[in-house]
Amino acid sequence: MVRTWPDHADQASARMMPCMTPEEFRVAGHVLVDWIADHRRRIPDLPVASRVSPGEVAAGVAEVAPEHPEPLAQVLADLDRVVVPGVTQTQSPDFFGWFPSNASLASVLGDLASGGLGALGITWASAPALTEVEEVVTDWLRDLTGLSAAWRGAIHDTASSACLVALLAAREQAGGLHGGAPLVVYASTQAHSSVDKAAILAGYDRRYVRYIEVDEAYALRPDALAAAIAADVAEGRRPAAIVASVGTTGTTAVDPVASIVQIAARYGVWVHVDAAMAGAALLLPEMRWLGDGVEGADSFSWNPHKWLGTILDTSLLYVRDPGALVRVMSSDPSYLRSATDGQVTQYRDWGIPLGRRFRALKLWFHLRLDGVAAIRARLRRDLDNARWLAAQVIDEPGWDVVAPVVLQTVCVRHAPVPELGGDALDRHTLDWAARVNDSGLAFVTPSLLDGGWMVRVSIGAESTERHHVHALWQLMRDAAAGRAMGSRPEGRSFSAS
Ligand code: PLP
Repeated sequence: MVRTWPDHADQASARMMPCMTPEEFRVAGHVLVDWIADHRRRIPDLPVASRVSPGEVAAGVAEVAPEHPEPLAQVLADLDRVVVPGVTQTQSPDFFGWFPSNASLASVLGDLASGGLGALGITWASAPALTEVEEVVTDWLRDLTGLSAAWRGAIHDTASSACLVALLAAREQAGGLHGGAPLVVYASTQAHSSVDKAAILAGYDRRYVRYIEVDEAYALRPDALAAAIAADVAEGRRPAAIVASVGTTGTTAVDPVASIVQIAARYGVWVHVDAAMAGAALLLPEMRWLGDGVEGADSFSWNPHKWLGTILDTSLLYVRDPGALVRVMSSDPSYLRSATDGQVTQYRDWGIPLGRRFRALKLWFHLRLDGVAAIRARLRRDLDNARWLAAQVIDEPGWDVVAPVVLQTVCVRHAPVPELGGDALDRHTLDWAARVNDSGLAFVTPSLLDGGWMVRVSIGAESTERHHVHALWQLMRDAAAGRAMGSRPEGRSFSAS
């Protein structure tokens, strides 16, 4: 047994072993797991935003691949020296940027198990467990989020891919690209940019991707949608798909899905519901209203790799009729045929890739090792924290909450004097957000709303407790008032203990 491998790379190269043995992996794996545990423990002390300049990380990495094995200790030292400073710490309790991007350690173990199994998902027969555990865990989450048993789920890499797949199915349901008149896709002005991208990739003409006006809560206006569809039909175009957002990226607005599906039904239009971040909230019975109307849609996606906390890449796509996917994406090469065809799910026909990873293990480990009760408690904690922060902001002179706080995101603006507006207000907003982010003590995201900059505080990192939100609120006020602020030192001296 070669127990000393990580520190004796010379021996490995000398004996001409082409690859790591299981025993060597055992030793190295323990060291790496220790490194991960140490790293996670120290994240709260690291600057939240990465401060590296473009090219700095690449300059710190060898220009050519090593001819001979290197010691693990050297690779880990480079992780500390080059990689850690080049990562914005989304697992930090002080991360309030973009959206929660949790990577629960339970799901990291599932990812490791998936890699360790090295299963190849190209057909049910190549790894029956890969397909069947995926069927089971997508059913678990279907039931946990209150969807009916009419839905079948699959795991995709991202919500962007899920939307593309949905729009491909919608395209064919509407008669395909070569069916004559142009096909039209509808979404709100607040829909995620991935909708536009998916529509173009699916072959729709950008001129016929319609962005429908929103109401004062930034939710799609059904009357405007109905009018747009009627106008397209009157002019001979073919409405093909509506993408409804449940929890927009900007403000977590919720489109009225129930009204949207009614309008869609009049014209036989496919409805895809994008709940990328917000879907996790459906685990809470009191938040089930977010899913009102979804049962009437054709496809529904959300990302456990956001707020729920299953490590990237874990995006769920549910459809009521898998046949709509299979009709577009099935392939039947002779080398993949087996006696079980026709009796089993062939996930390759439900999406674009042939070879699929055993992603279901990430969810399986996450849900089994953390348990649903703890996840629910954490989601509720985050909703409470958002309500608390919104209340502080509203009570503070000069500060404003600029969009309804539906979930865990609080959109704020600060005006040092009431008359400040336009470019000057934008400059002030970008300036105080940059002061917060440059301090390394927290990270928030400025974003445009109604043509002006505001700051999104997206609460929901696994480790964020009330006192972290409290500290952020103090930091925001200090930054906006131009007061002195502390800062978190560079993370470069970090090394595993
Ligand atoms: N849809 C919404 C509402 C989002 O907020 C996001 C990510 O921010 C996406 C889609 C894209 O997610 P993914 O990175 O999984 O493609």
